[in-house]
Amino acid sequence: MLTATLSTLLGQPEVSAFLRGIVGRGRYANAYLFHGPHGVGKCTAALAFARAALCERVPGAAAAAAGPSLFDAPPATERMLGDDACGECRGCKMSGTLQHPDLKFLFPLSGEERTLEGTIEETLEELRKDPLFVFQYEKAASIRISQTRELIAELGYRPHTASRRVVVVRDCDRMREDQFSALLKSVEEPGASTVWVLTTARLARVPATIRSRCQRVRFRPLPESVVRDTLQRLASVDEKSARMLAALASGSLARALAMRDADPDMRSQRDAALQMLAPALQRKPELLWRAIQQATGFGKAGRERLRMSLEFHQLWLRDALHLRYGAAPETLVNRDQAALLQELAGRLDAAEIRRRLLVLEEALRSIDGNVSPDLTLFSTLSRVAGDRLGEGAWPAHATARWDV
Ligand SMILES: [Zn+2]
Repeated sequence: MLTATLSTLLGQPEVSAFLRGIVGRGRYANAYLFHGPHGVGKCTAALAFARAALCERVPGAAAAAAGPSLFDAPPATERMLGDDACGECRGCKMSGTLQHPDLKFLFPLSGEERTLEGTIEETLEELRKDPLFVFQYEKAASIRISQTRELIAELGYRPHTASRRVVVVRDCDRMREDQFSALLKSVEEPGASTVWVLTTARLARVPATIRSRCQRVRFRPLPESVVRDTLQRLASVDEKSARMLAALASGSLARALAMRDADPDMRSQRDAALQMLAPALQRKPELLWRAIQQATGFGKAGRERLRMSLEFHQLWLRDALHLRYGAAPETLVNRDQAALLQELAGRLDAAEIRRRLLVLEEALRSIDGNVSPDLTLFSTLSRVAGDRLGEGAWPAHATARWDV
């Protein structure tokens, strides 16, 4: 059962207020485009919005177009005019399990045409069971022609039971040009009873003709505290790991969950990463090299591990910078390292810590190029520990972003 409602959307108060305003007034645009980073709740919000729009107890939602019904209309006293799904009416019951005939939900798929039905059903089943379900698909996954063909044929008819139909298209940037133009036709139809809700994390890939015809709704990265609390509350992640995952996830709950799935024990991963740093700090290059060789075994698929190691080092240095700026030790991500971090923060000034953070930043940017993980780690960690290794001066503007 999908339990997310507009009133309980995580960490997106402006979006929630805006969408409830629309539902409360019962006046919908033809199309909305929800955009913002990956994994911050755009699709959850789109489905919650759809449920509210299809709830039979909010203004204008009762099947006005179909005429009054003798059997289904709730007595006037039960009617609560609200701005969110009630969760109890017939419409909510159907949309809560994604089985409302007037709710169409399209998402990217890969695989052969004949297996699509099965894949769709399996995915929906997962989604019903797990409120934190993370969509994962192959690079080439797309909204399939067969999905839109059926839908477009249906758009010619009136909605089944509600006064409107809601079509949610997840990651609409994975549609083809001709699908967009078919969609465009429907969006422009006067008096259309269909509300489109498109989501994308890649706004630039949505054709300008579509962007300009949609009302845009912008989603922001989730606050670190929201990611942390959600991990603890809904994903049973322990407090320490949740703190670390949230700090690493850049405001994306999906990213935090993916990292948890990759390795539930964040703590030992971090320890392994920091262990590599120790010989660098002691200025023992041969020990550093050996530690890296032991820890990595980074093959071709090791980029993600390399990235994560560097991000752990980043969090660690960021803690040192926070201490330098006077933060309390209990607010650190790496609280258990407070003594070591205090020592470092006492020894280095803020500019020097920022300079070292930039070394990590630089290394993280280089990962997508053809770098060798062990050499990258070696030179990066040596520099993080204070070796200059011939680098030039850092441009002043580049250091600004670490001011917190
Ligand atoms: Zn309802």
